[in-house]
Amino acid sequence: MKKILVIGNGIAGALLSYRLRQKGAFVDLADAEMPSTSSQVAAGIINPVTGQRFVKSWRFEEFFPEAMRVYRQLEQELGVQLWEERPILRLLATPGEVNDWSMRCALPEYAGYLDEQADAGGWSPVVKPGFQVGVLRNAGRVSFPNLTTAWRQKLQAEGRYLNQRISHEDIKSKLKDYDVICCCRGAMDADNPYFPDLKWKLAKGEALVIRLTERPADYAPPEMLKKTIMLTAIAPGQVWVGGTYEWNTSDKGPTKEGRKFLEEHLQQLIAEPYEVLEHRAAIRPTTHDRRPYLKQSDVDPRVFLFNGLGTKGALMGPLLSDEMADFIVISGK
Ligand SMILES: Cc1cc2nc3c(=O)[nH]c(=O)nc-3n(C[C@H](O)[C@H](O)[C@H](O)COP(=O)(O)OP(=O)(O)OC[C@H]3O[C@@H](n4cnc5c(N)ncnc54)[C@H](O)[C@@H]3O)c2cc1C
Repeated sequence: MKKILVIGNGIAGALLSYRLRQKGAFVDLADAEMPSTSSQVAAGIINPVTGQRFVKSWRFEEFFPEAMRVYRQLEQELGVQLWEERPILRLLATPGEVNDWSMRCALPEYAGYLDEQADAGGWSPVVKPGFQVGVLRNAGRVSFPNLTTAWRQKLQAEGRYLNQRISHEDIKSKLKDYDVICCCRGAMDADNPYFPDLKWKLAKGEALVIRLTERPADYAPPEMLKKTIMLTAIAPGQVWVGGTYEWNTSDKGPTKEGRKFLEEHLQQLIAEPYEVLEHRAAIRPTTHDRRPYLKQSDVDPRVFLFNGLGTKGALMGPLLSDEMADFIVISGK
């Protein structure tokens, strides 16, 4: 059976190493434990219908059931809370938006996904008046930090986790110890010399964690709230607000402009005071056509890459990690 090194314990590397172990491979997982990665900053939301025109996500019917199944299975195996199915309340402000929404609601392929309701549910006490409310079902959120932390602890306990930064140069020497190496280093793989032809379009994202100071300390509405930005409770009394999109920037940290954008949009939605608890930023591993990369290197066929989950790691990661694990087990020399 193959001995495999997976580099990166973000959502991609965690799910891939889990799948490879299920297929009987000997897997070590290495991670540099970088402080601000995409999986640590993200809210882990699965949204079936995205964009201004409310279009259903690519391969959603395949990805969503598998994502729920895998997150629930991991919850059982790791003994941590990971997955919550939660509707998204889509605030509709203009007659055009209301009209687009109603038209989608009438289409048979959107039956069971889109609906309308009279109020903003658990958000009603804080949302400004004047919005109509659409409801998106088949949505939810996975806690990436809970998943990656519990997975790291499990592999640590088994002696299969390396807290190491593996540079491009280190891969060559590591190949003396492993049959296959798979890179899951998120945006850090954008200049990976084993995959020189991949086309990346990295998207920096910023997010806030806030507390609504006039709500009870454990305020946590059961729905997520979406307009230009998304609001979701991530813990009692803590609301995640995000995110921004900035392409091809070299600056990786939180910025004044990012915070201003988020706060301006937040204030258009809610009528109550809040306190900012955290301001986070990371680079999403986004590709030029928004399709993920499941690749074997032409430079060295023992090196693979599972990456490019972009804005949809929560949705696509579970099924694609299985397809990637099959690819490695079948093709890895
Ligand atoms: C603001 C924001 C909001 C988002 N919201 C959502 C959302 O709601 N839903 C959703 O599905 N997606 C969301 N995303 C996108 C999501 O974060 C990504 O799809 C996903 O996390 C990518 O995971 P990854 O494992 O590929 O990369 P990463 O999370 O970047 O993980 C890479 C890992 O590799 C490690 N690493 C890097 N270099 C090395 C090295 N040289 N050696 C060893 N280890 C290394 C890092 O420490 C890290 O743990 C959001 C992203 C941002 C920034």
